[in-house]
Amino acid sequence: YECKKKKLKYQYFNPALNEKALTTLTLSNKLKQCIENNEFIIFYQPIYSLKENKVCSAEALVRLSLDNKIIPPNQFIPIARELGLLPEIDNFVLTNSIKQCKIWMDSGVENFSISINTSFKQIIDENFVEFIKDTITKFTFSPQNVILEITEEEALEDLERVAEILNKLKELGVKIAIDDFGTGYSSLNYIARLPIDILKIDRSLINNIKDEKNIEIIKAIISMANSLKLSVIVEGIENKLQLEILKELNVEKIQGYLIDKPLPKEEFEAKYIKGC
Ligand code: C2E
Ligand code: MG
Ligand code: MG
Ligand code: MG
Repeated sequence: YECKKKKLKYQYFNPALNEKALTTLTLSNKLKQCIENNEFIIFYQPIYSLKENKVCSAEALVRLSLDNKIIPPNQFIPIARELGLLPEIDNFVLTNSIKQCKIWMDSGVENFSISINTSFKQIIDENFVEFIKDTITKFTFSPQNVILEITEEEALEDLERVAEILNKLKELGVKIAIDDFGTGYSSLNYIARLPIDILKIDRSLINNIKDEKNIEIIKAIISMANSLKLSVIVEGIENKLQLEILKELNVEKIQGYLIDKPLPKEEFEAKYIKGC
């Protein structure tokens, strides 16, 4: 009994521990509240087609609005994941970004796609495929204009299961992209086992694009993508030099601050959606 009491006392007076526990508790309560009150915000970042010379799609990127501040996803997604709340957030983003994109298409934007991030826990839910199907039907949205992004890391949590789900999603007609491609350290053979349409090359590979070796790596990825009939989007383009090099490599699509940063809905509309 003595011992237990001491341990408790020690824990209580450890300020670092206490603070960490408090912020996690505060954030987890906040996250739950935000889910209930739909307090997540979706920002949209344009994806630009170098072939068509126009913005061809938008990626939906979640934000949390807290005390008049916009909290980026890396600050709450890990906590949400740990608490098992990520699927709910992901489903919120999915429904609302498809709804939004439908409004944009109805206002006259032609062949515009919406790219949505998914997570392993979200897609392995037994109702997920049905949920996508229902959402597309509800908003009379064309499935080929939905791009579901999954990171290599999430896909590899259970490759067989993910392959089965992605195949069902493909049957619905939606497109599948591998996000953050080039950041994993796994072998590449998983690519052959998944019904992938798009590789999104991570910005870490183009950060040092002046480095000859990095250019060769990007070339190799593009050539692999071409032979597998996959399209390529390069993420994180920040300057003209990167753009020039990627143009020379015949990269189809780019995303990055050089085009624009993720924008609140109204700003995205004002800049990229005619008729809104
Ligand atoms: P991601 O899917 O790879 O999204 C691209 C991230 O790179 C975004 O960060 C975007 O703001 C940032 N970015 C875009 N262009 C540039 C650039 O030129 N330079 C630099 N330095 N960064 C650029 P963000 O919005 O903070 O999102 C971070 C990650 O959070 C996303 O990476 C994605 O993995 C995750 N995420 C965002 N929304 C969701 C969601 O609804 N569900 C899930 N599961 N994950 C999400
Ligand atoms: Mg993404
Ligand atoms: Mg990425
Ligand atoms: Mg990511």
